[in-house]
Amino acid sequence: MDEHPIQTPWAKSSDEIVAHYDVSVDEGLSEDEAERRRERVGPNALREAEQRSWLGVLVDQFKSFIVLLLAVAGVAAFALNENIEGVAIFVVLLINGLIGFVTEMRAIKSMESLQEMVEIEARVRRAGESRDVPAEDLVPGDIVVLNAGNVVPADLRVIEPSKLQADESALTGESVPVGKTSDVLEEEVPLAERENMLYKGTSVTRGTAEAIVVATGMDTELGKISASLQGEAEEKTPLQQKLDGLGQKLVPFLLVVAAIVLVSGWLRGQDLYLMVETAIALAIATIPEGLPVVATLVLARGMWRMADRNALINNLASVETLGSTNVICTDKTGTLTENKMTVSQYELANGSVAVTGTGLDTEGTFQHGDEERDQPQDPALQEALEVGVLCNNASVTEEDGETVVTGDPTEAALLIAGLKGGVDRDGLLESMPEAREVSFDPSVKMMATYHELNGSYRVAVKGAPEAVVESSTRLVTGDDTEALSEDDKEEWIRKSENMAEDGLRVLALARKDVKSTDAPPYEELSLLGLVAMIDPPRKEVKSTIKNCLDAGLRIVMVTGDHPGTARNIARSVGLMDPEDDEVIQGSELDDPENLSQDEMERFTNASVFARVSPENKLDLIGIHQAVGSIVAMTGDGVNDAPALKRADIGVAMGQRGTQVAQEASDMILRDDNFTSIYHAIREGRIIFRNIRKFVLYLMSCNLSELLAILIAALLGFPLPLLPLQILFLNVVTDIFPAFALGACGGSKEIMNTPPRGPDEPILTRTHWTELGLYGTMIAVATVGAFVIGGSMYAGGMGADEVVTMSFLTLAFAQLWHVFNMRELTSGIVRNEVTANAYVWGALGLSALLVIGTLYLPGVSLALSTAPIGFESWLVVLGMSLLPLGAGQVVLEFRRRFGTPNLGTRLEDLLFD
Ligand code: ATP
Repeated sequence: MDEHPIQTPWAKSSDEIVAHYDVSVDEGLSEDEAERRRERVGPNALREAEQRSWLGVLVDQFKSFIVLLLAVAGVAAFALNENIEGVAIFVVLLINGLIGFVTEMRAIKSMESLQEMVEIEARVRRAGESRDVPAEDLVPGDIVVLNAGNVVPADLRVIEPSKLQADESALTGESVPVGKTSDVLEEEVPLAERENMLYKGTSVTRGTAEAIVVATGMDTELGKISASLQGEAEEKTPLQQKLDGLGQKLVPFLLVVAAIVLVSGWLRGQDLYLMVETAIALAIATIPEGLPVVATLVLARGMWRMADRNALINNLASVETLGSTNVICTDKTGTLTENKMTVSQYELANGSVAVTGTGLDTEGTFQHGDEERDQPQDPALQEALEVGVLCNNASVTEEDGETVVTGDPTEAALLIAGLKGGVDRDGLLESMPEAREVSFDPSVKMMATYHELNGSYRVAVKGAPEAVVESSTRLVTGDDTEALSEDDKEEWIRKSENMAEDGLRVLALARKDVKSTDAPPYEELSLLGLVAMIDPPRKEVKSTIKNCLDAGLRIVMVTGDHPGTARNIARSVGLMDPEDDEVIQGSELDDPENLSQDEMERFTNASVFARVSPENKLDLIGIHQAVGSIVAMTGDGVNDAPALKRADIGVAMGQRGTQVAQEASDMILRDDNFTSIYHAIREGRIIFRNIRKFVLYLMSCNLSELLAILIAALLGFPLPLLPLQILFLNVVTDIFPAFALGACGGSKEIMNTPPRGPDEPILTRTHWTELGLYGTMIAVATVGAFVIGGSMYAGGMGADEVVTMSFLTLAFAQLWHVFNMRELTSGIVRNEVTANAYVWGALGLSALLVIGTLYLPGVSLALSTAPIGFESWLVVLGMSLLPLGAGQVVLEFRRRFGTPNLGTRLEDLLFD
């Protein structure tokens, strides 16, 4: 028993390797043994660039500039014997650190559990049974079963390959898939030529294999590479980067205010320490260090909400990108349609035959004209059924009285049609064993299988009508064949087009006999005829498409299917106007470099592309991106991976999609449903708005504090806010409403407006104007309360009660100010802010904390607050409501008359 990596496994026979790992190929390891090995070698995972421990996160909170400033202020306080002040500053410092810590830990935990949801599984043989386990659970010695489209989960030595090919470009840079064998190789063959090995991180493009795990986790070739790359800093999303920069914009402003406060205070002979402390408190208020972390939390929350709606997002940056996505390229089969195919008709040389029965039901009849038959009874139809069943990789089985299909629904439909006529694949293969398969290639649009028959080989071919008809030279007429003229070919193509125009999916069937399996598959075929299938559109798609169009999204159907079928389905789901019938063929995109202006315009405006190859998908994305669009593209096959990577949002299907497509994508739709893309985009838009809301909120609150101090200093008043009060507001009370704003739902208009431009800043010029306005209003109200208070109390503005009045006015004005954060188009009373229960909770909590500062003995001492009388409370309430009232008037004015372009000084200051 040995789970240590075997050296040069490619130079050993598979028997030797199996013996080394002490495992039976048929049985696999026992669960207990697998568990023991996992304990010894660890999980099959690449170590992440150093997991951050909770302690590390905690320590990081105290490495910030704010903490340094606070610590300096605290130490200075103790040095000057201001002990209460000193203690209070250190308490604030602790609270600040703890809030940061809790926020960041929540974001980290949330991200981790999201990551677990998109984990790749591997099919492994354990204790005699095949089962799917998370790839992380694989251990050396596990027997793994792989299919085309799978991602290779560990380093494997191939034991039994069948037509196996792998794409190893991720490891070797070689883009052409390489064939795999189980033969023993020389020890010194380089990695790229080790034909009997499969490496973690590469993918199976064709065929199937049984293989044994020889290295896991960091012992794999990929692990060795990633070990050498570790230590690279994790990239921040564009939004996080923008947020980092945002806080700094107020810094010059802060410096000016701080200088004025210092100088004016000093000139008037005020306590220098108080002035320095105020400047520090203002600095802390101005630099919104917490913004990026809160944004991360909001993004992670958005990912969860998207996951609830069946859209799994792989990375934070995509959440942002979704909000500005304006083009969705979607495939047809399975995304817009049900992907439940039923054969409805055969079109043969001797006439057409309708097939009855729907879905997976294997009961049905064949209708020749007016006559209905249980059996084909017609050699041409019999052959057509046989070719459809032979040239096939799907399977239909009965399990507990239910029909279960695996594989491509198109092929499954052909199997079911065969069963209706008594043609069963397994039975047929007994007399005609399969000798070779030429897999379906979306570029060729055909597939062929070779079968032994009376000493020669019968080739069964199916594929897109134009491809098969073009490759045919004869036509099967029954027991005989006749030559197929160019006119006949045209006639067959016309027939297929007519069927396609009715929305049917049409394939052509053909066959020939050859002497050897080396004979080329697609030459000199005898055409059997056409087979048509129904694949109804998904019910909910029509209304979703309407919603998408209302939201300014362009929906483009990109299908490999026939233009007629594409057009019919596009019309029935409302993607295309009845009078519009332009369907662009994939081949028109073949020369993307030399497009004229007209062509660019045609392609970017078109809604339906048919007969599109995987390469065409790449070009189409490029064309849209060239005009500045943000493109989402769906895909499911191995061939779609490059397009999924190239798209701004690659969307893979969770059920139908291959692992390769899922790995290449940014988003996985668990239900394969187009509607889920719409919901994800909606969520993306809401998230951006919410981030904007809390940024605008926090920054206007901060500005109001700066301005209140500045106005008082310029008017020669004493400080209307004391440093600890400023700290209290920033570190304690503002945070809760800001968090709550991050959890607002969408406004009614969110999907009735065009998407945000990709370069649109978090705060536009209009927002900066608003910010200046809000900040000024709150500051004026605060200083106003201070002045009124000064006339109410004997000690004038210097009395504790007066400072308490201005402090409370500011605190409450900031709390009411959350209601100014509604969207312009939302109602005054009922809007996404008032509908958010968190907002009310946050207001209640913050209000309690603020009022508590007056009555809790230690706290009121530290913050120099004092209980105030009823009249003073009325002044506080009245003054604090003024900015809300004014804010609502401004919003209402803008809603009715549009937003005036003020070109304010503040903007100029900040932008130019
Ligand atoms: P979509 O792109 O919307 O999923 P699609 O399945 O028609 O549509 P492709 O898979 O690229 O797109 O197939 C292109 C064409 O090739 C099909 O329209 C059909 O005529 C033919 N075809 C599809 N699957 C097979 C198959 N398994 N065997 C033979 N021909 C096929």
